[in-house]
Amino acid sequence: MTVRTRADLVALPEYVPGRTVPGAIKLASNEVSAGPLPSVVRAIADAATAVNRYPDTAATDLVARLGDKLGVDAGHLAVGCGSVTLCQQLVQATCADTDEVLFAWRSFEAYPLVTAVVGARQVKVPLAAGHALDLDAMADAITPATRLVFVCNPNNPTGTASRRDEIERFLERVPSDVLVVLDEAYREFVDDPEVPDGVELAKEQWAAGRDNVAVLRTFSKAYGLAGLRVGYAVASPAVAATLRKVYVPFSVNAVAQAAALASLDAEDELMARCRAIVAERSRVRDALLAAGFEVPVSQANFVWLPLGERTAAFNEHCLERKVVVRAFVGDGARVTIGEPEENDAFLAAARAFSG
Ligand code: PMP
Repeated sequence: MTVRTRADLVALPEYVPGRTVPGAIKLASNEVSAGPLPSVVRAIADAATAVNRYPDTAATDLVARLGDKLGVDAGHLAVGCGSVTLCQQLVQATCADTDEVLFAWRSFEAYPLVTAVVGARQVKVPLAAGHALDLDAMADAITPATRLVFVCNPNNPTGTASRRDEIERFLERVPSDVLVVLDEAYREFVDDPEVPDGVELAKEQWAAGRDNVAVLRTFSKAYGLAGLRVGYAVASPAVAATLRKVYVPFSVNAVAQAAALASLDAEDELMARCRAIVAERSRVRDALLAAGFEVPVSQANFVWLPLGERTAAFNEHCLERKVVVRAFVGDGARVTIGEPEENDAFLAAARAFSG
């Protein structure tokens, strides 16, 4: 007899990470190219001396620190092993198998996977013509079975960001028992003042008696800790408490907690890096536009090239020139903004593309 695993998981594709090709420039995973700061490396080394002990499963110091930074009580916070794990925890916290999770498509490719893993149903709402979320269509798609809506802002992979008025109009249409998750993995790269800070927006909603808005943030991008896996949710106390219940104990490890704290200590330096990436983003986009590509305005640390059927050829062309981009075949290519010389190598490859 063979072991009976869940039949509905047989056809589920595995998560496809950005490729790492030895000797090539990796612009495929929206990481920050610059390595960890020396102060963060020291904190990691110090924490390594105590790894015979289990981590603090409540991440007490990190939660307290985040609470101070964000102006919320600890009860509003839940940490996770990267914000992708929190995406799954959010579905676990809200859905049983007949319930629906709604999200735009294309958006973060983990949303369909975590929804399927929990066993809930997916409802995908196409992006609007300019590659941005169509929040009106998303509100229209809500049914009595909808329990959770992911609003990726800025959206991965298109980089577009929804503005305050659109989000507020959307929230007014969402029933108060449906959780709206503003996934702000790329928040630190936003420079459009019309794009709201989700945590501030959530606080306003909570103050108005609507507790159905939660926010996801991560240390993987702006804070440069993708390899250590720390993310957090800011939510109403009831939602945060449920997230802590579905948390796999100890999954944010001690080294990761120490590195996250050290990164908060070094926030000014890290935010200066983000500003440099934002400046590079404009330079890269302008150069791509000048070369004849369509590139939506990006508020994240990547740009989107909606190349459609030319995507696979573009991907191969860049790989031949030792630049790894993230191809969504048939749809487009997402290219992370790296260091200036990495971006130059990508731009040289893009200009030479004739497909
Ligand atoms: N949300 C979005 C929109 C993302 O793009 C990513 C990373 N690709 C994540 C969440 C997850 O990031 P992490 O698990 O590293 O925090």
